[in-house]
Amino acid sequence: MDLLQIKDKTIVVMGVANERSIAWGIAKKLLEVGANVIFTYRKERSKSKIEKLLADYTEHTTATIECDVNSDQSIAKAFTQIGEQFGTIHGIVHSVAFAHAEDLKNRFVETTREGYAFAQDTSAYSLVAVAKAALPYMTEGGSIVTMSYLGAQRVLDGYNVMGVAKAALEAAMRYLAADLGAEGIRVNAISAGAIRTLAAKGVPSFNTILHKIEETAPLKRNTNQEEVADMTLVMLSHLSRGVTGETIYIDSGYNIMG
Ligand code: NAD
Repeated sequence: MDLLQIKDKTIVVMGVANERSIAWGIAKKLLEVGANVIFTYRKERSKSKIEKLLADYTEHTTATIECDVNSDQSIAKAFTQIGEQFGTIHGIVHSVAFAHAEDLKNRFVETTREGYAFAQDTSAYSLVAVAKAALPYMTEGGSIVTMSYLGAQRVLDGYNVMGVAKAALEAAMRYLAADLGAEGIRVNAISAGAIRTLAAKGVPSFNTILHKIEETAPLKRNTNQEEVADMTLVMLSHLSRGVTGETIYIDSGYNIMG
């Protein structure tokens, strides 16, 4: 029995920079279950990484399309191209975030207007902009999943302006869920535990966080790319058809601890 019902569905995966990216873990699983996977990238470097990673998946239906989420024009161009090439979009993985390094390093009170706006634009508004651009092609309903972090809810050392952006992202996710539910489109967030990726390199306290999770989390270990990918697959699939507007923690249970 096909419990997931993802086979032959078209899923857009945004945010693969390299093999460590959370989005790549998700894409691999999607390819394994027979989805058509469309990758979007910002930098040419990411494009060539994606193409190399896809060398093992030549028999699958994939596409690699440029999309800079800071630009409405780039988003519109990407989704028009996806729509024209694939017709219907069934799912989106939004795994994109960015903030200036100095806004993570400096005292939070030093955050600049520009740095604040940039983090919000890239890491929170982008979800709304992407949903808007994809909507005309999500004619059969579908599922949108974004990646959040515990810093949205709690003050975590060195997460600063990104914590505020993730709080906005989770709120935007709920408003989108309410707005798009009538069209059969579900919107949820995965709040992943700390995983060593390119983006994580920008968080100054990252190693300390990894140790703290190992000591404190109920499962006494850190989570990994594969565990996050598995739950994302569930959230994209028929199995989660009754769930929308939720933030789901894949963090070895760390968030429940005092
Ligand atoms: P990553 O660096 O592999 O992925 C981040 C991606 O965002 C990159 O592919 C980058 O190109 C993309 N990006 C940044 N600005 C962009 C723009 N303007 N347009 C298009 N793409 C842009 O790191 P990751 O850890 O896989 O991050 C993916 C998501 O997971 C992020 O939202 C991150 O905040 C979240 N997350 C990460 C962790 C962690 O510990 N690694 C934990 C929880 C949540």
